[in-house]
Amino acid sequence: MEAPDDLRGLFCNRTLNLRGIKAIGYDMDYTLVHYHMREWEQRAYSFIKEGLLAKGWPIDHLTFDPDLVIRGLVIDTDHGNVVKANRFGYVKRTFHGTEPLGYREQKNVYQRTLVDLSEDRWEFLNTLFAISSACMYMQLVDLLDEGKLSTSMGYHDLYEEVRQTLDEAHMEGRLKQEIISEPERFVDLDPEMPLALLDQKRAGKKLLLITNSEWDYARPMLEYVFNDVLPGDMTWRDLFDLSIVGARKPDFFSVRMPAFRVVNDDGMLREHKSGPLQEDCVYVGGNAPLVEESLGLRGEEILYIGDHLFVDVNVSKKVLRWRTALVVRELEEEIEAYRQFADQQEELSRLMRQKEELEADYSSLRLQLQRSQDDYGPRDHRSPSVIENEMNHLRDDLVALDEKIAPLAKASSRLVNENWGPLLRTGKDKSMFARQVERYADVYTGRVSNFLHHTPFIYLRSHRGSLPHDDAASEDGAYTTTSGYEWDEATAKERG
Ligand code: IMP
Ligand code: MG
Repeated sequence: MEAPDDLRGLFCNRTLNLRGIKAIGYDMDYTLVHYHMREWEQRAYSFIKEGLLAKGWPIDHLTFDPDLVIRGLVIDTDHGNVVKANRFGYVKRTFHGTEPLGYREQKNVYQRTLVDLSEDRWEFLNTLFAISSACMYMQLVDLLDEGKLSTSMGYHDLYEEVRQTLDEAHMEGRLKQEIISEPERFVDLDPEMPLALLDQKRAGKKLLLITNSEWDYARPMLEYVFNDVLPGDMTWRDLFDLSIVGARKPDFFSVRMPAFRVVNDDGMLREHKSGPLQEDCVYVGGNAPLVEESLGLRGEEILYIGDHLFVDVNVSKKVLRWRTALVVRELEEEIEAYRQFADQQEELSRLMRQKEELEADYSSLRLQLQRSQDDYGPRDHRSPSVIENEMNHLRDDLVALDEKIAPLAKASSRLVNENWGPLLRTGKDKSMFARQVERYADVYTGRVSNFLHHTPFIYLRSHRGSLPHDDAASEDGAYTTTSGYEWDEATAKERG
């Protein structure tokens, strides 16, 4: 098999030996079934709009702008803002309504505030399903500020209205019916994906489907993405050892909810009274502990793969210690953007090193001046005016350097998305999204079919990570370049 491009890598935060995984659970939407986000969200947006128009809101002129937001941003419902935070929760970029806030305004609002997702005030955009409502929210904040919406409403009420209207759009059959009747318009098919799962099944792993989508939507979508590609007359039903629809994640992982067996294609249900869930069946509801008991497996033997940062990987890991993989479809575009920016990035880094040197020289001169004016400490004995003159020259050099740096730094902060930059970084630092991926996803990757190229037997070893003192400790590079290799006795034995 051809070695995969790094773009299609499985990126590992915590060592994961796929040979030790006995069951692999899959989320459906944006995991097994990938949508053209712009098409889907455009339709979702128009359903939200319709819902609000029906309530008499003056929003006929609004149109969907898919670039106004990206996943991983946070809505601040106290202020009607959308923010991008870094891994520590510091706010690095802000929009109020559809307009960016300047540096000073942003500082005034967030100087003493860290984004803490446990507070009700913040709404994290966990999935691509959040793009349409976030866009609508930003546009409505403008209208609220202009006094064009009900005056009794605050930014928080506004958010609740939009969320509720989106909920209705998702629940209502019409939107889903459109997708089912025209899947080729909405679904981005990946013909390699079914083979990745078939390899895993034939390698002896139990395959599970665990989706929040209901049976009448999940069935046609799974038929569409699997049945034509699987060999012979095999269908998706033959692939999954256990399927759960209407799973109500995240509660699925923590609350012992009842299960109902789907007994025919029309979705007729029969209550599952007791005992293990039966293999090759489809259930509605149920819960993760029941799945573990039915399969006779412990959390660490189950890998769950999904796209929702909170529902699919955070909760399954926190509550049950399942192994987790996050599908981040934006990753391919992000890596590609960095590749194309590589030359400019090198130039930017070179200029930044120059700037640091000049700044250090300037600081040193400033200290010389201070000591010579106050007559203390070791110093050279140039007169203050000579030192000041040299400082002026350096200052001019720094200004000239900044003029070269500014456009490059700006371009770097606008990679991928003009308004917000990349998903996984804020400036040089990791974004809050990246930090959460690191905490909760053992592995992350651009798409499920990347498992195909890496086989069901791969041993993924965690990335060594970096620390600010790495360069200081690596005179010969050994400190930073050795892989994070840990001797693992169990694997050594298994290999014989
Ligand atoms: P899963 O990713 O396969 O678990 O399925 C996600 C399901 O949740 C899909 O059926 C979506 O339509 C639905 N969904 C996504 N966002 C919302 C929402 O904001 N409200 C209600 N349902 C949603
Ligand atoms: Mg999903």
